[in-house]
Amino acid sequence: MTYATTVPCIHRVQTPEANEAVWSIYRQLGMAIDLDTLVGRLEQLELQASDASAATRSILVTFDDGWADSLALVPVFERCTHLQPVLFLTASQLAGAQSELPLLRLYAWCAESGRRLEDVESLGVTRKQLKRMPEAEQHAWLTRIGVRPVARPVDVLSPSQVRRLAADGWLVGSHAHDHHDLRFDDPRFLLEGLSQAASDLEVFGGVPWLAWPEGRCTVETCDVARRAGFTLQFSLRIESGAIQSDDLVHREIWK
Ligand SMILES: [Zn+2]
Repeated sequence: MTYATTVPCIHRVQTPEANEAVWSIYRQLGMAIDLDTLVGRLEQLELQASDASAATRSILVTFDDGWADSLALVPVFERCTHLQPVLFLTASQLAGAQSELPLLRLYAWCAESGRRLEDVESLGVTRKQLKRMPEAEQHAWLTRIGVRPVARPVDVLSPSQVRRLAADGWLVGSHAHDHHDLRFDDPRFLLEGLSQAASDLEVFGGVPWLAWPEGRCTVETCDVARRAGFTLQFSLRIESGAIQSDDLVHREIWK
């Protein structure tokens, strides 16, 4: 594997048909990229890899949070043979659920009810505080303020879609046992959680790779992940770029 070049981290991919209000929130947060722009960048990456005689499927392109948007890229990866797509799925997705992350539930609700992200603070909690809470607490808070859960969100990959992508050669890694900022967790619970995530990933047939939620990790949390069995870890450069380690890949969000 080569990760000397910038490893991209992609969340939502916007097609011309996808124009619901929630997209302006994803854009505001830097979590969305146009399909045409993305395809252009991937083709550029493929060209560079080919010119550099890189090995087949040696350039990693990563997708966080399990969005169904990535299905639009299947034909691109079929023809760009130097690129290796990697899906980082949440614990519930790896367990076979088609489930929505709490913050994404919040963004959809803001868009539907005409609220801006800035308005969320007036409800008594900031996004920063939410990001530190375990997923279950985030969901409970959302339910308390009246945000209904979505039973089976169609914009998240279904288990059969995940299986199809894996069969097409997409690698599957873990987005941790719980999607929140894990830097402040008790190291014993962190080790327990990440060990569970690593063993669930093994059962699934994934690669022992971890993408830190929110791209955030520390020297100490990286050590815990290593002990849990992860052989490669992925952060976001903007969040954790100061940490240097051979098994930590800093990524850039493509938007
Ligand atoms: Zn994430």
